[in-house]
Amino acid sequence: MKYIFSPHGEHALIDFIDNQTLLAFDFDGTLAPIVPRPEDACAPTSMGRAMTHLTEVATVAVITGRAISDVRARLNFEPKYIVGNHGAEGIPGLTDKTGDSAEIAVWERQILAAWHTLPQGVKMENKQHSLSLHYRMTSNRDEAKLALHALLNQLQPSPRIIGGKCVVNLLPENSNDKFDALLALQRTERSSKALFVGDDETDEVVFRKALPDWLTIRVGQKDNSAASFYLNSQSEMALLVQRIDRLIRAHK
Ligand SMILES: [Mg+2]
Repeated sequence: MKYIFSPHGEHALIDFIDNQTLLAFDFDGTLAPIVPRPEDACAPTSMGRAMTHLTEVATVAVITGRAISDVRARLNFEPKYIVGNHGAEGIPGLTDKTGDSAEIAVWERQILAAWHTLPQGVKMENKQHSLSLHYRMTSNRDEAKLALHALLNQLQPSPRIIGGKCVVNLLPENSNDKFDALLALQRTERSSKALFVGDDETDEVVFRKALPDWLTIRVGQKDNSAASFYLNSQSEMALLVQRIDRLIRAHK
């Protein structure tokens, strides 16, 4: 992993970014800072402005674990595409064929029946195509994570589990993920290249399976991440967006 604002990173951006590049971003921890309560997350107004500016010259997509209806008002800009529920919602051509909500309801019932085995502070969120269990507000997060995984191992049918920052996400076994989402968007747009910026476990599938014509950036340096580049923190995102914007305008 290399720092994107190093000479090497700058080189990669210059080589890679032009008006044929599809630009895709995760939301929580990427466009918006992580906050104690997920329901308070919002892209800062300055980020909304920078992204609005970017949408004038580039194809922009947001690929998030949130439901589309949840994230839309938090963006402060309008991207061409919003893919929600980790890829189960909003992929052109594949939209909503996966993410069987019947399974979600079954798991929700099973989890509620065993709710007493979970520590206080765990919050369940039914997002129709996926189910999230947040444990940021528990007093001992390691214990909460163990208790959650013990419970999730017993669910029938077995869900696909994607970890995150103080959250576990349950999706149907055959559901799309963020990699499928980006690939489908790139094909739909016939973009020669794609950039993806994310910060979380749920983004690693994109980093890991990235095609040669993709550039991947992780918010936060991490030893075992498969992303090619990193930003030090979410607060550097505005700088990155402005840099990308200038490079595209220079190509026009
Ligand atoms: Mg994230």
